[in-house]
Amino acid sequence: MENTWKKRQILKQYFGYDDFREGQEVLIDSILNGRDTFGIMPTGAGKSLCFQIPALIFDGITIVISPLISLMKDQVGALNQAGIHAAYLNSSLSTNQYFKALQFAREGRYPIIYVAPERLLTDSFLDFACHAKIAMVAVDEAHCVSQWGQDFRPSYLKIMEFIERLPYRPVVSAFTASATKEVREDIVDILMLQDPTVMSTGFDRPNLYFEVQAPKNKYKALLDYLGKHTGESGIIYCLTRKQVEEVCGSLIKEGIPATRYHAGLSDGERKNNQDDFIYDRAPVMVATNAFGMGIDKSNVRYVVHYNMPKNMESYYQEAGRAGRDGEPAECILYYGGQDVVMNQFFIENNQDNEELDDITRQLVRERDHERLRKMTFYCFTNECLRDYMLRYFGEYGGNYCGNCSNCMTQFEEADVTDIAAALTGCVREAGQRYGTNVLIDTVHGANTAKIRQYRMDRNSYYGSLSKVPVYKLRQVMNHLLVEGYIRLTNDEYMLVKLTEKARGILKGETVLVMKMAKEQEKKSKEKKPEKTKKGAAGTGDLKEEELQLFEKLRMLRTEIAREEKVPPYIVFSDKTLIHMCILKPKTKAEMLKVSGVGEFKYEKYGERFLEVIVHRSAQ
Ligand code: ADP
Ligand code: MG
Repeated sequence: MENTWKKRQILKQYFGYDDFREGQEVLIDSILNGRDTFGIMPTGAGKSLCFQIPALIFDGITIVISPLISLMKDQVGALNQAGIHAAYLNSSLSTNQYFKALQFAREGRYPIIYVAPERLLTDSFLDFACHAKIAMVAVDEAHCVSQWGQDFRPSYLKIMEFIERLPYRPVVSAFTASATKEVREDIVDILMLQDPTVMSTGFDRPNLYFEVQAPKNKYKALLDYLGKHTGESGIIYCLTRKQVEEVCGSLIKEGIPATRYHAGLSDGERKNNQDDFIYDRAPVMVATNAFGMGIDKSNVRYVVHYNMPKNMESYYQEAGRAGRDGEPAECILYYGGQDVVMNQFFIENNQDNEELDDITRQLVRERDHERLRKMTFYCFTNECLRDYMLRYFGEYGGNYCGNCSNCMTQFEEADVTDIAAALTGCVREAGQRYGTNVLIDTVHGANTAKIRQYRMDRNSYYGSLSKVPVYKLRQVMNHLLVEGYIRLTNDEYMLVKLTEKARGILKGETVLVMKMAKEQEKKSKEKKPEKTKKGAAGTGDLKEEELQLFEKLRMLRTEIAREEKVPPYIVFSDKTLIHMCILKPKTKAEMLKVSGVGEFKYEKYGERFLEVIVHRSAQ
């Protein structure tokens, strides 16, 4: 009973929030009842509070295990700003600093200590842990224990041994956003959770808008997009280092405050660039998939994929770095046929599986090709994108989310039987020896050197669909692929092969109907979702005058962030600033009603924000 009151008080006083979010209370209560606890919640759902609040209530120390220095730094920074004593122990500390922190820990100054898994079994740390009162071990990013996942860290396997070395077993809690069943099972098994409370809140991130485009000129599309999102922070993911260099270089020439990140840069430069991004000095990050793990930046307003990634797991993880603060954010994917070829090349030349035997390696390769196919279908589908994604991860979505490019486009049912018959007929007659481009050019009647060289101008379907626009032919081809009437070979040539299912079409027995975008497609795609139409995403509900206030508050936030040496979003999130613009508090009491303003932060810099709000029109 007492705890019920305490946890709410801590939520308000330190973090400035009035209510728990879905799942948080169940997890907190379970931990407070001394049970092992496993929380599976999507990125940005608020997993940290689930172990931080019990840590503040427990009589004893909570050890948090986290995979990356940047993550620890971020979370400890956030706790300190909220007025909570916490520290981290990792390789970024000098020996002196480390022993000093350990000394403070012994004196009981920190209710929460973040530790790198590599440290756990060192003599100095074990000595401390065995003599201290450890109330809980919380494993953040728990999927790192699983080899199934994308971020396996062998050092995470030391956690069990560490727990066994303690004089008594503390509560063990684990948290992840990982969606797959194998990973979840691994976490329970490997961490040896004892009869844990398991809470999974589902993977949907309603604040994210999803869109797929197939722009003729990706760079131009990107420039247009960035032009509409100046001042906002976002990530642009490319498939190769070379592309990162090209895109980032061009953007900088355009005067866009961009920086870059990939595995080919020195450690020092990577760190600098990452900091520039996190501190909003260079709000646009162009990167390969090497970037992102350990980035808790909450005000990322968009993630653009310049290339289609290798599978849905990667896509959802990378796109999911947008909108951690719960405010509207956009996830845009630029699809190009070349992306498939590149990914196939990576799969065929993957060096990671060298140690596997031939049969296993072949199985892994086939699995990767299958995942790539599912990713490609995401780009082709005319159904709700969110629904497609949730189904991929084994959940059920509604058929309509109203916040993705497909739900925003008007479709009509079109009978494409004739087109499908000509395409498949052409494939058969040409001996299944060509890829989609040659086939489409053939039925469309293109007069190119290639077509003449392959003698496709003598194919009886040559020019039979000359009146149908090429983009439409491509859509039907993609539809045939998604529905399994044809398939592509897994090599660089990607030849179109007919499947058993195609027979009905060839014989004229199957009627094929598909959803096609209505002719005014262009306009409707330009349209933004309601919420973000009026202004920049995340500030969509603000009136003109409030937007100006928002800018002023943002400047103040940057100033304070510099003084405090923390990233701006740790001072206050975008969401908190927006809330201030709407409430326009005039007094301390009113300011404390703003979501995200806790007492400690108010004392530190609340009045400076109040001042800007009260004097907004005078300036
Ligand atoms: P996760 O680890 O699940 O990805 P975080 O713990 O980093 O997410 O939290 C994401 C954001 O949500 C943070 O800015 C956090 O302050 C905020 N948040 C957490 N819980 C609440 C809550 N109950 N009400 C409002 N905001 C919250
Ligand atoms: Mg987290």
